[in-house]
Amino acid sequence: MLSKRAASLKPSPTLAISAKEKALKAQGIDIAGFGAGEPDFDTPAHIKEAAVKAINDNFTRYTPVAGIDPLKDAIIEKFKRDNDLTYKREEILVSCGGKHSLYNLFQVLFQEGDEVIVPAPFWVSYPPMIELAGAKPVIMQTREEDDYQVTEEILKKHLTPKTKAVILNYPSNPVGSVFYRENLEAIGRLAVEHDFFIVSDEIYEKLVYDDYKHISIASMDNVFRERTIICHGVSKTYAMTGWRIGYSAGPAGIIKAMGNIQSQSTSNPTSISQMAALTALTGNQDFISTMVAEFKRRKDFLVKSLRAIDGVTCYDPKGAFYVFPNFSSVMGKKHKNRVIDTSTVLTELLLDEFHTAVVPGVEFGKEGYLRLSFATSMDIIEKGIDRIKKAVAELT
Ligand SMILES: *Cc1c(COP(=O)(O)O)cnc(C)c1O
Repeated sequence: MLSKRAASLKPSPTLAISAKEKALKAQGIDIAGFGAGEPDFDTPAHIKEAAVKAINDNFTRYTPVAGIDPLKDAIIEKFKRDNDLTYKREEILVSCGGKHSLYNLFQVLFQEGDEVIVPAPFWVSYPPMIELAGAKPVIMQTREEDDYQVTEEILKKHLTPKTKAVILNYPSNPVGSVFYRENLEAIGRLAVEHDFFIVSDEIYEKLVYDDYKHISIASMDNVFRERTIICHGVSKTYAMTGWRIGYSAGPAGIIKAMGNIQSQSTSNPTSISQMAALTALTGNQDFISTMVAEFKRRKDFLVKSLRAIDGVTCYDPKGAFYVFPNFSSVMGKKHKNRVIDTSTVLTELLLDEFHTAVVPGVEFGKEGYLRLSFATSMDIIEKGIDRIKKAVAELT
């Protein structure tokens, strides 16, 4: 018999769609896949070489559970350089991916009786990870017409004496939205006033477009920093999703407790990957701007093409590599005998009849929308857009 915890847990829907997409491709079907949750770029050569060197140098044994000191120092340097934040080694934990950083954090911070506020649209893993820690996710809707902002007014409506934390993810997955400075300030002030923590998932910090400059909420005021835990990693910035290196920065007591969980579960992150991450953070950074320039080209094309479809609106992402178009206007229409009444049915139609893989917005807490990743080639993007246009044109 499975535990209650395991029985109620469903697998990540985005990973499930990627799996379905791969299975159809393996059957020889020409799928335009927008499901990817990872850069389509290869890990830069100098980073791969650092890993090869680590193997040849026999850097293949256990390391300290919380990560090797040179990597912690490189992370400290990154926060200084990019965010003007000063951390000590005991305020940094290296984990097996950003997801693992968040998991460890939720395990040490949350328990039965706690409420954790999650702004929607949200990254699919937050609610189940909060539940795994025994706490209750409180979904807080934000709106496309407000640039998906969390304002003081919206947040106040969701605060209760049980509120333990609010999760911020900006630039966000699935929208690519970011918070205005004044709203970050309001969130920070409420956190101090009502004594809750801020979990700041800044994994897309470096993948930003146009003139947007990322501001970490922790850097805005020392009293915000004291109650903020930043979760970050090398997966998205350096096209290193398979290497599994994430890191967190926050109050020493929390970081130490997270390290204890890690010491009783995974032990250290892979020694070889730590060496690769060290080179990623300290080596030449030119790769990032090359990747971002290509992402921007694809984003601009997608936003323009989606907005040109009758009835479809689309937020122009400030960061990350997803667009989140609004297809509410087609809800209720029909394709042959299929009634398109949810984003899930629309997703099934696109996959079955038009061989185009997207993720339904409802998985991110927002019905009527779709998520399209542009971490895929321009050829596929153009092909997929043509298919989506055709699908919408065939709806009656
Ligand atoms: C990809 C992602 C992560 C973590 O990814 P890892 O590969 O585990 O480092 C965390 N948060 C969001 C919002 C993501 O999209």
